[in-house]
Amino acid sequence: MTKELKREIFDKKPYIIAGPCSAETEEQLTSTAKLIAETGKVDMLRAGIWKPRTRPGSFEGVGVTGLPWMQKARDLTGLPFCVEVANAKQAELAMAFNPDMLWIGARTTASPTAVQEIADALRGTETFVLIKNPINPELELWSGALERIQGAGIKNVGLIHRGFSVYGNMEYRYAPMWHLAIEMKRRYPELIMLCDPTHISGRRDIIHTVAQRAIDLDFDGLMIESHINPDDALTDKKQQVTPAMLSEILSSIIWKQEKSPEPEKNLILMQLRSQIDQIDDELIQLLVKRMQVSDKIGLFKKENNITILQPERWNEILQKEIEKGAKLGLSSEFIKSYLEAVHGESINRQNAVIYERKE
Ligand code: PEP
Ligand code: MN
Repeated sequence: MTKELKREIFDKKPYIIAGPCSAETEEQLTSTAKLIAETGKVDMLRAGIWKPRTRPGSFEGVGVTGLPWMQKARDLTGLPFCVEVANAKQAELAMAFNPDMLWIGARTTASPTAVQEIADALRGTETFVLIKNPINPELELWSGALERIQGAGIKNVGLIHRGFSVYGNMEYRYAPMWHLAIEMKRRYPELIMLCDPTHISGRRDIIHTVAQRAIDLDFDGLMIESHINPDDALTDKKQQVTPAMLSEILSSIIWKQEKSPEPEKNLILMQLRSQIDQIDDELIQLLVKRMQVSDKIGLFKKENNITILQPERWNEILQKEIEKGAKLGLSSEFIKSYLEAVHGESINRQNAVIYERKE
């Protein structure tokens, strides 16, 4: 791979990475890669060579044997390739085969020691590294992994959102918790953020919906698992799609851009946004007014020895506002979380008033 081509990796949007969950045989990898390349919609080939599995006893990858297969697939299709590394040894072995990119998987991101060892192994190389979110919803681990890789002098880093392991989540294999990925986009606006709708979904039928959501949220691209014969896959069979299905998913996504190419449309957006800004200003003023009244109530309660939290009054407000909101087209979830935030702050303020008085 030339350096110029490598640099393009982060320039193209949307950037699409696809390939099997695991490289299983040379034949499976090559035939999948060929069909993926034929779709004309994919920019990079992926495959897991070492598979960190949550529990032992299942296929753990072909190991280093698979790396020459990846190289051959690259030669055959012209697609650059990436593999996952989970420790320093794997990073060293992979680098010997000149991959175009490496990625760090969710289970590894959750381990600062492993990430640091990988970072040290990659120090001084010009490799590209994508970092998946940790398996648990802990953003500091994700940021920490990024800092470790960047701290080793690796400049070309990006992020992959693949959902989080949480109890009680039924719809997805891994709960997307989009707000966490959005927070990482806010923290690191200069980094590319891809979405892996495959692992979020855990099943084929909702990959498209999850991918569309990511594109609507201005993600820079997607990583999708695709296998020539998903039902026979050695790992993640329920969530892999054939290259034909992949092509269909990619062509039915409505790709969005940050701005319209028509200047007058951008003007309309600007006007609407300035209305929003104005309303936000007014809301802030109203919130300040509301909190000032809260402070007075706090003082009153303090002077008259009245409890801060009065569940009946709180329930009454909640009920009344939810009903009012419903009539005006606002969802009860929204009203509830809005009121909880406002009421919570109000209680904090009243506490502060009383605390200060005590001193
Ligand atoms: C994978 O991409 O096949 C994989 C193991 O993903 P994750 O680390 O997101 O579970
Ligand atoms: Mn997988």
